[in-house]
Amino acid sequence: MKRLVLLLTAVVCLAAVDPQEQAALDRISAADMRGNLSFLSSDALEGRDTPSRGLDIAAEFIASQFRRAGLEPVGGADYFQAADYLETTPDPSPSVTLDDDKKTLHVKNASTNALAALDLKFAPIYKVESTDVPSLAGKVALIRRPGARAEGAREKFVQFRAFVKVARERQPAAVVIYGAPQPFPSLVEAKAAPEIPLISIADADAVKLLDALSPGESKATLSFHANEPKKTPVQLRNVAGLLRGSDSALSKTYVLLTAHYDHIGVKPSGDGDRIFNGANDDGSGTVSVIEIANALAAMKQHPKRSILFMTFFGEEKGLFGSRYYAEHPLFPLKQTVAQINLEQLGRTDDTEGPQVASATFTGFDFSDLPATFQAAGKATGVKVYKNDKSSDDFFARSDNQSLADAGIPAHTLAVAFDFPDYHQVGDEWQKIDYDNMAKVDRMIALGLMTVANRAEPPHWNEKNSKTGKYVEASHRN
Ligand SMILES: [Zn+2]
Repeated sequence: MKRLVLLLTAVVCLAAVDPQEQAALDRISAADMRGNLSFLSSDALEGRDTPSRGLDIAAEFIASQFRRAGLEPVGGADYFQAADYLETTPDPSPSVTLDDDKKTLHVKNASTNALAALDLKFAPIYKVESTDVPSLAGKVALIRRPGARAEGAREKFVQFRAFVKVARERQPAAVVIYGAPQPFPSLVEAKAAPEIPLISIADADAVKLLDALSPGESKATLSFHANEPKKTPVQLRNVAGLLRGSDSALSKTYVLLTAHYDHIGVKPSGDGDRIFNGANDDGSGTVSVIEIANALAAMKQHPKRSILFMTFFGEEKGLFGSRYYAEHPLFPLKQTVAQINLEQLGRTDDTEGPQVASATFTGFDFSDLPATFQAAGKATGVKVYKNDKSSDDFFARSDNQSLADAGIPAHTLAVAFDFPDYHQVGDEWQKIDYDNMAKVDRMIALGLMTVANRAEPPHWNEKNSKTGKYVEASHRN
């Protein structure tokens, strides 16, 4: 009986979808996505590392699909937004010594992100333990990095980042981060302005010595030498295609539907399969962007706002493609109303239990965008819900973060946050539930059209304290 009632509700709601829109939803095909994903996550593409030939081939394939759908090429070079980066290989063994009144310590296991040779002789150390810091010209700033599992790690990291920011503004010769090792990205934007270099020290003896220093000025000094890193220019590409809006005013505003097309490449050694195919992460999001673009581009009358379909490079390396886009947007951020980023849509075998005909958003209560998709879910038979445990935590873990930082209401939509083959070689296309993914994509497409047709753009939820910095950023656009 209960089931019958539900069925009737579904039928009534489905009838509410505009026939043009329903026709678009009907074009979303599980078989198309199965075909596309079996190529994108094939061994031939070698795990789509950033940068790699496999990544370049994936980009060409995505562009070919945007071309086939009839999207407008944007980005300057056909469907590509090309970005010049340097791949860096640092000096593997810089020399580091710490001197205080009593002794000299030769430090092991240090590294730096300096892009030129770095040479410091007996630079006085200033230990930063507050944001009240004087000019540090000729000195090095010393900041402790908390361990990821330390108690209250989240708050400690917020404080740590604030210290690094203020220290850099005081123009020291370098910022020394000690304690937990500081990872440095191997990619830097070729045209990025030079920054105060960071030095990472995690050697136990050195950490002990540095911990013993009192805050502020000290008699201890640091000497450091690292050769210039090896730098190889690489060109990376976001792939972007536009569906021009049909309304003369609203078409000058933009909704982004995105996914990352990179993954983590190939395991350097070991027996058997070494290729991280990345079918669910995030081949599933990539083929969904293609499929929804294809479905909407065939409409006689496009949605009112313009929709930018885009796939990013370098998410796995640290949101590189989306950061690049936020810094070099193809259309003004002021006129960009929302980003819906797709991740992990194909696997239903979530480690928390099966997720069939359902989907969730990161930062579910951060804006009113998820509610629009919840309504689209009601009309397409997909439950769109808040994952109380993970929704907020995962907000920072994908490409929505870059646009959120730029003030745009931006969320990631996923079917499963965690699944058994996450970042394993077993994340292969055969394990995807294509029918379920097509159903979820119909919900996404309907929600996307709703956002694109509605005169009122999505808004951050200012009542949620976690949205403060995004609201502030939105005022800067
Ligand atoms: Zn991902």
